[in-house]
Amino acid sequence: MKPPVLAYAAPTSVAEACVLLAADEDAKVLAGGQSLLPLLALRLAAPTTLVDIGRVPGLRGIEAEGDRLRIGALTTHADVETSALVASKAPMLSQAAGLIAHPQIRARGTMAGAVAHADPAAEWPAVLLALGGSVEVAGPAGTRVVPADGFFVGPFMTVLEPDDIITAIHVPLAPRGWWFGEHARRAGDYGLSIAALSCDLSTGVMRDVRIVVAGATGTVSRATAAEELLDGTEPGAATDRAVAAAAQELTFSADIHGSAGYRRTLTTNLLRRGLRELAERTG
Ligand SMILES: Cc1cc2nc3c(=O)[nH]c(=O)nc-3n(C[C@H](O)[C@H](O)[C@H](O)COP(=O)(O)OP(=O)(O)OC[C@H]3O[C@@H](n4cnc5c(N)ncnc54)[C@H](O)[C@@H]3O)c2cc1C
Repeated sequence: MKPPVLAYAAPTSVAEACVLLAADEDAKVLAGGQSLLPLLALRLAAPTTLVDIGRVPGLRGIEAEGDRLRIGALTTHADVETSALVASKAPMLSQAAGLIAHPQIRARGTMAGAVAHADPAAEWPAVLLALGGSVEVAGPAGTRVVPADGFFVGPFMTVLEPDDIITAIHVPLAPRGWWFGEHARRAGDYGLSIAALSCDLSTGVMRDVRIVVAGATGTVSRATAAEELLDGTEPGAATDRAVAAAAQELTFSADIHGSAGYRRTLTTNLLRRGLRELAERTG
């Protein structure tokens, strides 16, 4: 199928892009096009204007700024995957990037686009939640920074307003214990279950534990009861109890790719493996 007829604008600044979005309530930002263009072709989305931010200067790149990594909105999955800075400062991102789709899609799709799209089976929302990252957003009233914890509000839903633009993603640089893994039917497929774990190990016990699951639940979710169970314990000491708590508190989804029970099993296996490997790495 072909996309519907629509207007196209290529602003050269974030402010101009915001004005264009505000002028048409059915306008949409176009970044890498790897989610939006298929939706247009299938007529599952019908914006009246595409605001292509690809020519806005200064939106692509990765920098360490104080205690955080700042990843510009046009930074692709491949840029993240191959960045030496990311590999040394936030290695969970390198690992997750390599599991997103295929090289051709990673070369065009952007991290910020995936965060805005908020697919429940996407890797980046899980990584951001697990690392306590945040989203820098420009809108008509100026720029604000929204913590990932309050950004994703449901499947394909975020707190972004129609005239907002993500300008960057922020990831804290404080060293943390971490693990990331997923089960997909084939390499490059969306994960049937994705797990992202991280915790502060600076005192020898697990603190500020974050256990995030995507792909298996209707939306990206934190397993907060399991996190509380692990808080203050030595790595590996309460793994089985935490996995059981996560399996109990999460609501697993079903579709043609797998039942809720199947996804529960995949997820508990991932979490158990993740928590054990995290303990082995620190032991
Ligand atoms: C075959 C295939 C397999 C895929 N597999 C995976 C996978 O395994 N995991 C995964 O995570 N993704 C996967 N994707 C999606 C891919 O990662 C996309 O790149 C990503 O979801 C969207 O990024 P984009 O830059 O292409 O955004 P676009 O497609 O341009 O936009 C997507 C949405 O985000 C909005 N948007 C984009 N940028 C901004 C911004 N800066 N501010 C505000 N709104 C914005 C757009 O308006 C649109 O609604 C797959 C895609 C394909 C085609």
